[in-house]
Amino acid sequence: MGKRMGMILILLVILMGAGCMKEKKADIWENETVKKEIKGEEKVQFTFQPLPKAIADKVEGVSWKKDSPVKLEDLSYVKVLHWGFDGKIHEGELIVHKHLAQEVAEIFQILYGSKFPIEKIRLIDVYDANDDLSMADNNTSAFCFREVAGRKGVLSTHSYGMAIDINPVQNPYVRGEKVSPEAGRDYLDRTNVRKGMIIKDDACYKAFKDRGWTWGGEWKTVKDYQHFEKIIPLE
Ligand SMILES: [Zn+2]
Repeated sequence: MGKRMGMILILLVILMGAGCMKEKKADIWENETVKKEIKGEEKVQFTFQPLPKAIADKVEGVSWKKDSPVKLEDLSYVKVLHWGFDGKIHEGELIVHKHLAQEVAEIFQILYGSKFPIEKIRLIDVYDANDDLSMADNNTSAFCFREVAGRKGVLSTHSYGMAIDINPVQNPYVRGEKVSPEAGRDYLDRTNVRKGMIIKDDACYKAFKDRGWTWGGEWKTVKDYQHFEKIIPLE
């Protein structure tokens, strides 16, 4: 009995210690592909943590506002590595809902492991929280407090940190004649697969879908090929 209590105590201490760590590492090293690709890599970096003060200061009043549906404390800062269109490894940063942070870090580890090319991953605040500018620059991003394009008063799932847009130029938003960003018109033919495009059953599609995310490329009335979302209950 005493031995058991001791074990429980040790476990508790370990758990508490882990809980106190600000920066956490996503743990999916059991994934063989990822392990093979990343093993021995010095710059391994797929972490998530509460918004560091510098980041919170940066987003406040820009992508996050006082009337945002989620609190700053409910958002996480995720750092990832990704393969760029130049074939080199780059660092990226995302803000997502805290309950999706680990999953998002894992997804980007898988994208990295499968060398799925992503041109850039910057906070949308770099573009003054202007989604059109971010998309036109082919930026991959997640959290942004905003309405759904063309639907006033309807909040986008990006407002909750529950959506991610990937390579918007190669994966445009299409609604009738409207294509966003404009450069995405070159990618309307989804059978002509080029670098950075998301296609059903590819590594990117599977990384999200396997975890219960919805893909905008499978929506019926509009197609939002860049968009993945997972709606989770708010506390
Ligand atoms: Zn989106």
